[in-house]
This record gives sequence, C-alpha cells and structure tokens, in this order.
Amino acid sequence: MMYGSMEHMVKNRELVLVSYTEEGPVTDDHLKIRESNFNINGCKEGEVTVQNMWVSVDPYIRWLIKEPARALYFDTFKLNEPITSPMVGKVVFSANSGFEVGDVVTGMYQVSEYTIVEGSALRKLDTNLFKPSDYLGPLGTVGLTAWAGILLVGEPKPGDEVLVSAAAGAVGLLVGQLAKIKGCRVVGSAGSDQKVKMLKEEFGFDDAFNYKTQTDWDAALSKYFPKGIDIYFENVGGKMLETVLNHINMKARIPLCGMISQYNQDWKESYGVRNLINLVGKSGKMQGFTVVEYFHCMEEFVKEVGGYMQQGKIKYREDVHVGIESFLEAFNSLFSGGNIGKTLVQLTPK
Ligand code: NDP
Repeated sequence: MMYGSMEHMVKNRELVLVSYTEEGPVTDDHLKIRESNFNINGCKEGEVTVQNMWVSVDPYIRWLIKEPARALYFDTFKLNEPITSPMVGKVVFSANSGFEVGDVVTGMYQVSEYTIVEGSALRKLDTNLFKPSDYLGPLGTVGLTAWAGILLVGEPKPGDEVLVSAAAGAVGLLVGQLAKIKGCRVVGSAGSDQKVKMLKEEFGFDDAFNYKTQTDWDAALSKYFPKGIDIYFENVGGKMLETVLNHINMKARIPLCGMISQYNQDWKESYGVRNLINLVGKSGKMQGFTVVEYFHCMEEFVKEVGGYMQQGKIKYREDVHVGIESFLEAFNSLFSGGNIGKTLVQLTPK
C-alpha cells in the first residue's frame, strides 16, 4: 500500500487543556484552540486520517478538567494535550485496509478538525438509515446511557411512576420516551416553561414541571406523584435527590446516571443528601452506573432504539453549535440549561 509518499498539508485546529479548574465554569483560561500544519497523508500502517464532522459535548468533561489529585469519577485530561470526546468524521486518507476514503466513522479521540486515528479505535457507521450525528445522540453513548440506565438498572414495569430530571436534555429525552414505551407514567423536571411544554406536547411525557419556578419541590412531587415514585432517573443530584427520597415507594429504583448540579464545585462542597435512610425503610435500590460498562450491548441497543426511531416511537432534538471555536459556549450551555436535546459541535457542513 502506498501512503505518506506525498505530503498534503492543511491547517488543523485542536482543543487543548491548558489549566485545570476545580470550581466554576470552564473558560478560555482552561481550554484553548491550537493551530498547526497537518499532513493529511501522514498516517502510519494501520491508521487513518479523519476529517471530523461532529463533536459530542457532554457534562462529564467537567470532571476531566479538575486537578488529577482532586478529581473523582475518571482519569482527568493531561495538560497541554488535546481533550478527547466521542467524535464522528469522514475518512480522508487510509493506511488501513479496513477503511476507505469516504467511510463515515466514530470513535473516542481528540477534539480537532483532522485527526490521525488507529483503525482499531474506530467503528464504521451505516449512514443509509440514520444521519451521522445520530451516532453521537440517540444511537451513541448518550442513547446507550439512557437505554442501559432506564431498562437495565431501572427495570421499569408497566404502571411504574417514573421521574426523570434534566428531562429535556440528551439523556433525559430518551429515558422518558423509553419508559413510556415500557408502559410507565412519566414526569419530567426541567429548567424552563418552554422545555416543560415541549416534553408534554412533543415528547409524550405524561407531565412535567419547571423546577426553577416551582421551587417547593416537595409540594411539586406530592402534586405530580400522588401515588409516589417507583423510579427516579437521576441526572442532577443534590437537593433534588434529597427531595425525591422522601417520595419513593417500596422497592423504588434510582439509577444514578449523573449529578450535574454538583459538577462546577469541589466535591467537598457538594450538597450532602441527608435522608438516605428512606432507602432502608422502602427497601429501595440506588445504583450508579457508567455507559462504559454497557459497550458490549451496543448492537442490541442500536437495534432496539434504531427500530423505535424508524417506527417514529422515539423522537430526538439536537442543539448544534458551529465550529471548534464554539465548543466552550456549547459546553457551558449544559450548565446554564441553554441546550435542548443533544449538544453537538459541527466541524464540517456534511
Ligand atoms: P443534558 O443534555 O441533559 O444537559 C445538561 C442539562 O442539565 C441542562 O440542559 C440543564 O437542563 C440541566 N442542569 C444543568 N445544571 C443544572 C442544575 N444545577 N440543576 C438541575 N439541572 C441542571 O446532558 P446529558 O444528557 O449529556 O447528561 C445528563 C446527565 O447524564 C448528566 O448528569 C451527565 O453527567 C450524565 N451522563 C452520565 C453518563 C454515564 O455513563 N453515567 C453518560 C452520559 C451522561 P435544565 O434546563 O433542565 O436545568
């Protein structure tokens, strides 16, 4: 195979971590764009060059921008190196017989306009049935998180009373719709009246409430769950978790997916949930999980959720920001609630 014989230089921009921060929002003091010359034909045997189309923007990245010694959850990003994220792109040069120019691929690798990636770290995508960005949303890690979290950890039964927090976000939208498909009654909490309306009118939630205006959450849960809560899909943590624990039914399940309300502060300052004793009295189960544990279910999950999408049983929304320079704005929208559905950065038009 001939490769690397002739240079094909382009400008490349990548997103680099230049300093850690324990508290507050991430800014351009922490993440910076670095531009360099890039040889598209510069792959070694087994590698491919990908021109990236889509970057997934996810809350867990906040944990990876904390000092390694003080972080929890995952290993943090390394200083002066590009950050990584789930990506989708098009192969523009290949030194791997498994990939051809034009293949659309996904993988977890550095956030940049062009990247050289080991073929073994990439998965080829079928873009006949679904669009490339779907593989970062409902058919990607976000979708797998929702599917595994509600179905395998939450174990929904018809008639169960289900509360989903951050319900209008990437994971929450899918969790609510999957729980509906399984015959549950589903209520979402979200941070604006527009999101509440959308959940009820477009996404089939039985009810929803705005946790920013209905500030007595105890009263809200009494109103929306007169029969108590069987499953609480936890995306936000803190005081919401504490309030929910006072409303759970016998044998309630609480899949702990994330706790975004606590990510912008040092963990020692996190809200201390005071009423875990409810889990004892109600024989409740609270179980943390990460999507990584369920990667082996990818095929089964894509078949099921892809099927629902084709049948029109699952709808989805994307919140698209354009250009690598919009990453910070996109990322911070997750914390201000500015996003609806899956937050993405688009790097190339197609
Ligand atoms: P979303 O698209 O849901 O965006 C985050 C949402 O969180 C915002 O839209 C905002 O909506 C809400 N939010 C932000 N700050 C607060 C706050 N202080 N209190 C309450 N709500 C808040 O993100 P994802 O769907 O990607 O992620 C949702 C959760 O799932 C996160 O906790 C994330 O860490 C977790 N996750 C876990 C995975 C795992 O493997 N366990 C994998 C992927 C995600 P609003 O307007 O309603 O406030």
